[in-house]
Amino acid sequence: MSALAPWLEQDYQQAQQWRRQGKFHHALLISGINGVGQNAFAEAVAKLLLCEKTDNAPCGQCHSCQVAKADTHPDLMVLDGQEGGIRVDAVRQVVAKVANKPQLGYSKVVLLHDAHQMNVNAANAILKALEEPPASTFFVLTTHTSRSLMPTILSRCQRMTLPTPNADQVSQWLLNEANVDASNLLWFSQTPYHLLSLTQSPSFDMLQQLPTWLAEWLHGNLRSDELGSKASKETTADFIDGLLALLTQAVQYTVTNQCHAHVHGAVTGLLARYDIYRLMGFIQQLTHLKSQLDKTHLNPTIQIIGELNSW
Ligand SMILES: [Zn+2]
Repeated sequence: MSALAPWLEQDYQQAQQWRRQGKFHHALLISGINGVGQNAFAEAVAKLLLCEKTDNAPCGQCHSCQVAKADTHPDLMVLDGQEGGIRVDAVRQVVAKVANKPQLGYSKVVLLHDAHQMNVNAANAILKALEEPPASTFFVLTTHTSRSLMPTILSRCQRMTLPTPNADQVSQWLLNEANVDASNLLWFSQTPYHLLSLTQSPSFDMLQQLPTWLAEWLHGNLRSDELGSKASKETTADFIDGLLALLTQAVQYTVTNQCHAHVHGAVTGLLARYDIYRLMGFIQQLTHLKSQLDKTHLNPTIQIIGELNSW
């Protein structure tokens, strides 16, 4: 499984060992910070469990492995909370299906991505299945906020917490994976899969330049309307998140005296002009503005310009 990110490999080997020794728990909860790779890891684990050979799984040769590679395995059921939550009907359908024998190999796998997105009814339906698991069925749940899951579900699962990679690991991985240098974006996010999705979005370029634009604005070389207009319709939310990250780092700088080199100009510029209480006020205002963006029909660029003018 060379496709797995390097920081996930140790836990993957642990999963392989459980499988080899016949010790794989029927319910595994995979957690870790948002975007660390839970989904990719869970999919790899699903393939490992579906393989017909336990000693060297996934063998890549057996029928199950071949079919799993094509993402059409009939014994793999996926419920994804990211697509508008996990509904109870969907859970019931899956639970009914796993009551049957596997169609291909020897095991069935239910993947529950973002399991915290289950409502109470869905959670209760899955809980029943976890309490009385059908034969040769494995439930693999992922989450970035395990505290949001019902304690009764947590108590039924074996837990695995994926490690958070450091900045160098993230940069190197993005270079290999997407052939992009994201080192100038680590001030914005250090979560690898979040950065990976940003590389395919117009926000990628915008965010790289945002610290410089803010520094220019602070020095009076850029007007508020010019800075605000850098946010397009697609990038407004990331633009606000970027400003929030810079303000937060300025506040932290007053304690740690440290920040990412790429944002040093913007951070010290903010601190030269505002005290910490004003910066915290801006954070509040921007957070409010962000929460209103989807609710109002006002032009977001105009709202951002209005916000900057009030600073
Ligand atoms: Zn196999």
